[in-house]
Amino acid sequence: MTDWKTRTKLIHAGARRSQYGEMSEAIFLTQGFVYDSAEQAEARFIESGPDEFIYARYGNPTVRIFEERMAAIEGTEDAFATASGMAAVNGALSSMLKAGDHVVAARALFGSCLYVLEILGRFGVEVTLVDGTDLDQWRGAMRVGTKAVFLESVSNPTLEVIDVKSVAEIAHAVGATVIVDNVFATPTFSKAVELGADVVVYSATKHIDGSGRCLGGIVCGTRQFIRKVLEPYLKHTGAALSPFNAWVMLKGMETLDLRVRQQAASALGIATALEGHEKLARVIYPGLAGHAQHAIAMAQMGAGGTVVTLEVAGGQAGAFRFLNALEIVKISNNLGDSKSIITHPATTTHQRLPAEQKAMLGITPGLVRLSVGLEDPEDLLADIGQALAQV
Ligand SMILES: *Cc1c(COP(=O)(O)O)cnc(C)c1O
Repeated sequence: MTDWKTRTKLIHAGARRSQYGEMSEAIFLTQGFVYDSAEQAEARFIESGPDEFIYARYGNPTVRIFEERMAAIEGTEDAFATASGMAAVNGALSSMLKAGDHVVAARALFGSCLYVLEILGRFGVEVTLVDGTDLDQWRGAMRVGTKAVFLESVSNPTLEVIDVKSVAEIAHAVGATVIVDNVFATPTFSKAVELGADVVVYSATKHIDGSGRCLGGIVCGTRQFIRKVLEPYLKHTGAALSPFNAWVMLKGMETLDLRVRQQAASALGIATALEGHEKLARVIYPGLAGHAQHAIAMAQMGAGGTVVTLEVAGGQAGAFRFLNALEIVKISNNLGDSKSIITHPATTTHQRLPAEQKAMLGITPGLVRLSVGLEDPEDLLADIGQALAQV
């Protein structure tokens, strides 16, 4: 199995079949498991193998297939699934940190990721935020004893691309664990572990499901980190992924590569066509040669991803007029869905941030985040064009 290429692993890795030999992965919609004897129950609580289950908060066969499949494509020894992407982010950080520890994080983060860092601060973890695109700031913030580095490899929503390889080298020099939220890079374009990430986190809600059905998350890392550090924290605090949702994620993985490659191709086409549009002050897409980190994006993903961020002329009023005029593209706040979705971060996902912080992060009133779906890109461009005409 280790020789298989990613697209084969996406379909088959981690598969388990019951005595019925079912073709599609079974949904083990069970909270618990029956033991043959009291002795077996005792033994399993002491040490359980990969196919010995105790309680669905600890693990479940359907969830286990999802975990093994994700570890296989990410290139890590193991993985642990969670109820949502935020449970994965919180689990990865909280399981390894304690009061007095120091964390360095990129400042351009999803609003909820910033909130988790605030919670850590309340519990005595010191957090230093840096401009993730400036390696000197990473170097300057690192100290002997820095425990973890946290970043989104491509930031939400301004699509800053962070040089994971260089940041990992800087972090490893002081012995810090590098935790990468890789949602925007997607598992298809991810080389995070190859680049030096120790732990890779995904919201499976996004591209992995890909049809906007279920919440889910996953943390991928070494067996030592996943089983000895993360699992005790997660199994006792309860953010377990439901077996049904794990099954939906497995179905999503079967088409993940096809979907994400098509969405990225459409995103590039749309970004290219919109560059220089009179109603747009900026078109931000890592796949465009003019993007500030275009070379890094190409080196670490080989593509620009599935999201295009636009700055509409006329501030919030212009952005709202644009959103309200769209017919195919839906106003919502998911991304990675087969349906194209548009979001106004300043008033939704990043509403909570104070005005100065929004300004510093480039989340301007006219900024909109377009998650490109699987519709015909010509229809999408026509829809965007007619909506921009109304701005
Ligand atoms: C959506 C998202 C999350 C959170 O995932 P949920 O599944 O919604 O909990 C975390 N990080 C990034 C970058 C995201 O886009």
